[in-house]
Amino acid sequence: MSLLESSQTDFHDPRLATSRADLLAALRAFLPTDAVLEHEEQVRPYECDGLSVYRQLPLLVVLPRTVAEVQRVLRLCHERQVPVVARGAGTGLSGGALPVGDGIVLSLARLNRILALDPAARTARVEPGVRNLAITEAAAPHGLYYAPDPSSQIACTIGGNVAENSGGVHCLKYGLTVHNVLAVKFVTMAGELIELGGAAPDAPGYDLLALYIGSEGMLGVTVEVTVALLPVPERAQALLAAFDDTERAGHAVGDIIAAGIIPAGLEMMDGPAIQAAEAFAHAGYPTDAAAILLCELDGTLEEVAELTQQVRDLLLASGATLVQVSRDDAERLRFWKGRKSAFPAIGRLAPDYYCMDGTIPRRKLPEVLRRTAQLAAEYRLPVANVFHAGDGNLHPLILFDANRPGELERAEALGGRILELCVEVGGTITGEHGVGIEKINQMCVQFSPAELAQFRGVKQAFDPLGLLNPGKGVPTPRRCSEYRQLSGSAGHQHGAGASH
Ligand SMILES: Cc1cc2nc3c(=O)[nH]c(=O)nc-3n(C[C@H](O)[C@H](O)[C@H](O)COP(=O)(O)OP(=O)(O)OC[C@H]3O[C@@H](n4cnc5c(N)ncnc54)[C@H](O)[C@@H]3O)c2cc1C
Repeated sequence: MSLLESSQTDFHDPRLATSRADLLAALRAFLPTDAVLEHEEQVRPYECDGLSVYRQLPLLVVLPRTVAEVQRVLRLCHERQVPVVARGAGTGLSGGALPVGDGIVLSLARLNRILALDPAARTARVEPGVRNLAITEAAAPHGLYYAPDPSSQIACTIGGNVAENSGGVHCLKYGLTVHNVLAVKFVTMAGELIELGGAAPDAPGYDLLALYIGSEGMLGVTVEVTVALLPVPERAQALLAAFDDTERAGHAVGDIIAAGIIPAGLEMMDGPAIQAAEAFAHAGYPTDAAAILLCELDGTLEEVAELTQQVRDLLLASGATLVQVSRDDAERLRFWKGRKSAFPAIGRLAPDYYCMDGTIPRRKLPEVLRRTAQLAAEYRLPVANVFHAGDGNLHPLILFDANRPGELERAEALGGRILELCVEVGGTITGEHGVGIEKINQMCVQFSPAELAQFRGVKQAFDPLGLLNPGKGVPTPRRCSEYRQLSGSAGHQHGAGASH
C-alpha cells in the first residue's frame, strides 16, 4: 500500500464543503478577496510539492501579506481546530508541504521582502518567502553571499530552508542552514509571535533556535529570518575527475578529507546521472565515465593554487582516469551547471523519479553504492546517483512509472530499503530533505520508542492540538508497530539519532 492512500480525502465531500464555506466567510472577513483561494482549479497547483506522486487538495489556500494576517489566520484555525500546512515554494522532496484534505495551505509566498541588509554586521533580515538565491543576489554588491545553496536555490524560500534545515554544495565547508541562521521569528498555532536567537553568539536557556530549524513546519510558522552573510572568497576553482569505477571515486572522497582538506564542495555523480546531465546541460562531462567527482576549492589565490595541486595529485593517485582543472570562472560554472541541473535532467529519463536522501559515514560510501546497485537490481528499477559526497549525503534517484501498476509501491519499498541500509551502516535517513511523509516509516527504524516519545513531547509543547502539518515527521506508536509487522523490520536499529 502506498504511503498516502490510507489518508486521502475527497475534495467534494459535502461535509468538507460546509466547513469550507464557514471558514471562507470567517477568513474573508479580514483578508482581501485574492488572499483566499477556494475553487478546485485555484487550489490544484498546491496539491503537492516536489514529491509529486503524493497529491491531496486542501480545503482552502490562504496567502497572507503581513505577519499580523498570519497571526489572525492561525488564531482562527486554532479556534476552529483546522489543520494548517505552511508552504514556501513547494520544492520540498519529502512531501512536507503536502496538504491535508480537511486543512488549509498557508502560503508564505507573498511575505517576500528583504527587510534589512547590514554589510558591516554581515547579516540580512528577510521575510520567509524570499528565495534563497535572492539573498545572495542582494548581498553581492557588498561582496557578500549566503552560503547554504540547495540546488533548488533559484526557487526555494528561506522559510522552507529553515523548516528543512536545507543544505547544498557549499555546506561541507560552510555548514547547513542551522549554522547560518542567527534568529527566527515564528507564529505559534495559537497566533503568538515568538523570537528565537539574536545577534549575540550564545543565549541562556535551551537552544530553541537549533530545535526549531529543521522542524518541518510542525512547531510554528516562520515569519522572519536573520541570516549570516559571508565574504565572497577571493578565488574559487573547480576540479572535475573521471573514474571508471564508482567505488574508486568513493575512496577518492575519503582520501581528500583524510588529507585534511575541506573543499567548498565535493560532489559525485554516477554513469546514468552523468549521461542525463550532459544531455541536458552540455557541461562537458565525460559520458563514458562510471563516476565523476566535482571538487571546488576556495580561499585566497595562494591557498587555492596550493590546494588545487594537492587535490589533483590525490585524485590521480586514487585512480582517476582524467582530471580537469577549471581555467576560469566560466569553466568552473560550466562544471557545476551539469550538477545543478542533474535532478531535472534525470527527471527526463522516466515518467517519475523518487529522490532518496540518506546520510552515511564517508568511509562507507563504496560499500553503500555497491549495495544500492544490488538493491536496484533486486527491485528491477534503475537508480541514478548524484550527491554531496563530501558530507556523505546520498541522493539515489529511483526511476519509475507511477502509471504502471505496482511500480510506485516497488519504488517506495526500494527507497525504504536504501534508507534502512544507511541506518545499518551508522548513518541517518535524511541529510537535508526532511522526513515529511516520505520517510515517516523509517523514523521507526532510526529511533527507539523512547526517542520518538521525546519528539512527540516537543511537538506537544509547541502545538498541543497537533494542528500544524499533522501526519508528517514523527510517526505515531501505532504506525511504527504496523510498519514493523508489515515489513518484518526489527524496528530501531541504532541509537544514531540520539547523537544528533
Ligand atoms: C531540483 C531540486 C533540487 C533540490 N536540491 C536540494 C539541495 O541541494 N539541498 C536541499 O537541502 N534541498 C534540496 N531540494 C529540496 C527543497 O528545495 C528544499 O527542501 C527547500 O528548503 C524547500 O523550500 P520551499 O520553499 O520550496 O519549501 P516547501 O517545499 O514549500 O516546504 C517545505 C517544508 O517547509 C515547511 N515550510 C515552508 N515554509 C515555511 C514557513 N514559512 N514556516 C514554517 N514551515 C514552512 C513546509 O510546511 C514543508 O514542511 C531540492 C529540490 C528540488 C526540486
